[in-house]
Amino acid sequence: MARVLRSPIDAVGCALLPASCSLCGSPLPRLCSVPICDSCWVEIQIQSGPQCSRCGDALESLSPPILQVSPPITDNSGANLCRVCRLAPPPFVRAVAYGPYEYRMKEAIHALKYDRLNGAASKLGVMLAASMSQIVEQAHSEMLVIPVPLHHAKLAQRGFNQARSLAQHAIASLRKTHPSWRLTLASSTLMRHRSTASQAGLTPRQRRLNVRGAFSVSDPAAVKGKHVLLIDDIYTTGATARAASQALIKAGAAAVWIATLARARRIYQNRSGSSAFFRNADSTRDLPGSLPGDVSQLVGMHSSPNQPSF
Ligand SMILES: [Zn+2]
Ligand SMILES: [Zn+2]
Repeated sequence: MARVLRSPIDAVGCALLPASCSLCGSPLPRLCSVPICDSCWVEIQIQSGPQCSRCGDALESLSPPILQVSPPITDNSGANLCRVCRLAPPPFVRAVAYGPYEYRMKEAIHALKYDRLNGAASKLGVMLAASMSQIVEQAHSEMLVIPVPLHHAKLAQRGFNQARSLAQHAIASLRKTHPSWRLTLASSTLMRHRSTASQAGLTPRQRRLNVRGAFSVSDPAAVKGKHVLLIDDIYTTGATARAASQALIKAGAAAVWIATLARARRIYQNRSGSSAFFRNADSTRDLPGSLPGDVSQLVGMHSSPNQPSF
């Protein structure tokens, strides 16, 4: 009878790793570096369908018909823009994401962030690399990659910054697939100098207020004239992306691009109720967001050229 030989690493791994997938609970058929089964990885979807050419928000209609994502509006250049970007153009050039923040993607990110399943950062980092590669033809050939920082209190509590871990793995992946794209990780350049409440469960307006003025650049000379690729795990309302981009541009960055692993879809009711929520922001903590009257009020705080754009 043939014997199954296990390497010492296999034996140690099997002893240390749980026997079932952290996401679906299925038995793991073999040793893998992170306890998530192949089926769950395959079930992570990629972004598809028409998207806003600036922020990446989905533009197609959804059912039920009462709910619509932003209807597309074409600007003079022919680009499709969502209502938010049309009324308050973001300070960044473009935001891209790998896939929608739902189902297995959401579970994998939760496993990474809250269950400290650090091994997941490797595969998720490859997905982030795919997200980043969407801009390789348009963006500068030399970029600073800056993970959105955590406040030091949050960093001490979590033990690591998931955006930094993802960025490290993504850069390693891109060095193989796009060796001519010179990406330099600059993880201490941007600072979150005041603690902010968790964004989960906040309305869009609360999110903007929550991150207003939260970021600054430690060494403006390090970003002056540089093209920056800002990295985060999830793009939800864009409040964090706008606030961080604004700080980088104020410090002299030539341009800021955004790449995230996941994108929460923004949906508005298109009737007079004018409330909105984030369909897949976080099912357990999502609250139907009560927005001020309409979208112009939604973005009104950052539509003035004389005020910070968030
Ligand atoms: Zn699974
Ligand atoms: Zn947009």
